Formats: sequence, C-alpha cells, structure tokens
Amino acid sequence: MTELIEKLYRTCDLSGSELKSLIETDDEEAAELLRSRADEVRQRYYGKKVFLRGLIEVSSYCRNDCLYCGIRRSNKEADRYRLTREQIMLCAESGYELGFRTFVMQGGEDSFFTDDFMCGVISELRGKYPDCAITLSLGERSYESYRRMKEAGADRYLLRHEAASEELYAKLHPAELSLSHRKQCLYDLRSLGYQVGSGFMVGAPFQTTDDLIADLRFLQDLRPQMIGIGPFVPHHSTPFAEEKGGTLALTLRLLGILRLMFPKVLLPATTALGTIAPNGRELGLRTGCNVVMPNLSPVDVRKKYELYDNKICTGEEAAECRVCLQRRIESAGYEVAAERGDCVDGQL
Ligand code: SAH
Repeated sequence: MTELIEKLYRTCDLSGSELKSLIETDDEEAAELLRSRADEVRQRYYGKKVFLRGLIEVSSYCRNDCLYCGIRRSNKEADRYRLTREQIMLCAESGYELGFRTFVMQGGEDSFFTDDFMCGVISELRGKYPDCAITLSLGERSYESYRRMKEAGADRYLLRHEAASEELYAKLHPAELSLSHRKQCLYDLRSLGYQVGSGFMVGAPFQTTDDLIADLRFLQDLRPQMIGIGPFVPHHSTPFAEEKGGTLALTLRLLGILRLMFPKVLLPATTALGTIAPNGRELGLRTGCNVVMPNLSPVDVRKKYELYDNKICTGEEAAECRVCLQRRIESAGYEVAAERGDCVDGQL
C-alpha cells in the first residue's frame, strides 16, 4: 500500500487494479499515509486556507425522481418551499456581512425558477456584490439557459455527475434521466466558461469498486475545478430507506485519493460527511479538503431541504453556523479564508 500511495503522490495516477486495492484497503497505516500525503499536497497549493461558500437552498420542489433523494417528486410527505427573490437577497446580505464571498444557490429542479427569474436574481446579486462569486446548483437545464445565466453574471456551476457507470446510473435514477444528458450538461457548462464542480456519492446502493473507478476516470476526463463527494445517507421516505449508508473510512479514502489525483482541485468537506460522524468535516479537512459550505438558508425552511435523514445544521442561524464552523476549522489546524476562493489553476 505504501508504494501505491507514493506512486499516486508522485504521478497523480494509478492503474485500475492499483486503484482497486487502494480503494478497498482497510489498513490503518495506509489510511494515515494517504491522509498525510493528501494534506501535504493541499498545503502546497492552498496552505492552511479553508474557503467558505454560503449555501442558499432556494427550493425543495423538484420535477425529478432520483431514487436516493428526499426531495424527489414521488415523496408526497415532503414539505415543499421555495424562496422569493427578496428572501434570496436577504440571505446573501446576511452572508456578505458574515464574510462570505461566494454564494451558492442550490435547489431541486423547480420550473418556477425560470431563466427570467434566475437571471433577475443573478444580475441583482452581481450588481450588489461585484467582489463575490455566484455559484448555481440547479440541476440539468438547457444550453441556452446556462448561457443566459452565465451572461447575467454567474461564475460557477455545481452538478455532480452522480455515477459515471451507465449501469449504476440507471439503478439510481428513473428511466427518463440519462448519464449521457448529465454529462452533456457538464460539457456545456464548461464550454460556456463556468468553473465547474462535479462529483458523486460514496457507498450508494449497488455501487461497486469498479463503479468508483469509473467515477475517478470520468473526473480525469472532465477535469472540473471542484469535486464534491459525500457519503450516501438514506432518507426514510425513498425507495432506498432501508439501504446502508456510505462509511466514513471509505469516504476519507476517496477524498485522499482525489487530492492526490487532482492536486489543485477545490474539495469540500460536505455536510453529509458531517452528518455520518460528529467530526467528519474536520477529518475531511485533514485529508485534503479545503472548502466548507455552511448553510445560509432561512432557519424556518432548513428542515424542508431534507435530501437525507439527520442532516446537520438545520436548526441554527447563519451566524451561529459561521461561528461553529470557524471553531471546527481552527480546531483541525486550519484557517478560514474570507475570499472568493477560486481554484489555483483556472483549468486543471
Ligand atoms: N438538483 C440539483 C441539486 C441536487 S442536491 C442537482 O441535480 O444537481 C445536491 C447533491 O446532494 C446531489 O447531487 C446528490 O449527490 C446529493 N444527495 C442527494 N440525496 C442524497 C442522499 N440521500 N445522501 C447523500 N447525498 C445526497
């Protein structure tokens, strides 16, 4: 294992069979070596900085029916909400005062959020906060829609590919969604000049090591500026309610591997990671992560953006989240960076 990790560290790549052994090992010494190499590489490019992204969960309405997701359209128990333009602006205002310089508007695929509506919000944000990055995470839309939103002032787009293996993609999604369309969206976003984030869930139902290797290979092809991964966490009113969730150890292994494969990438320690272990995000930060995405959504809607069970940070005000995260980041030995936090390499 030592040799494999050193080879990945030196060359940023491994063969399929080498990756398989590394993904599957439960050797603790290997985990520690991977962690320290990942941390060394993140510090080479980003020092001790951790970038904050203020997450505004704009809508829990979704036309899609992804089998793992708590806000899928078939979940009749879900309590739905959508924010108004004024509410979104208020979230951004409080976020700006708290020092955030990136706003992420994420939501289900809600047809109420037309291009006209989104472009209005984006240009207002762009005008008020010229020093901030505007990130969108609104799922699959048309090339024209992505183009208009970019023109209105959006900088970045987060769209996890979810699963790069056709077979697994089909088991996690309804028939009307396709991996090829998901990929097309990512290539469209990239060609429009967005900084792109992609990624996948770890430990999703039916996922094999070969599926994870397919995810890594797809990311090597796409070369996104950000890679978001987190453990799959079951949601009680989805078809995967009784499935096992992804583990902390496997998620950390993949984070370490991603940092060594993509030395300059932006790698968030996700809320899902913090949900499966109380110190999950701190462990992520120590294993190559350099981004956290605290919640800026109004407290009265937070519980309703329930993608999975036991999601953390649903009861606190934005300011409390900010203080709590600052404490966690510093306790792990890192520092909060109040800046836009672009990827050090425009195109990886
Ligand atoms: N509609 C947008 C935003 C989706 S929510 C889009 O399609 O991109 C953001 C991410 O949450 C998803 O990409 C998915 O990977 C993750 N997610 C959804 N359900 C989850 C679950 N049960 N456990 C862990 N992560 C989940």
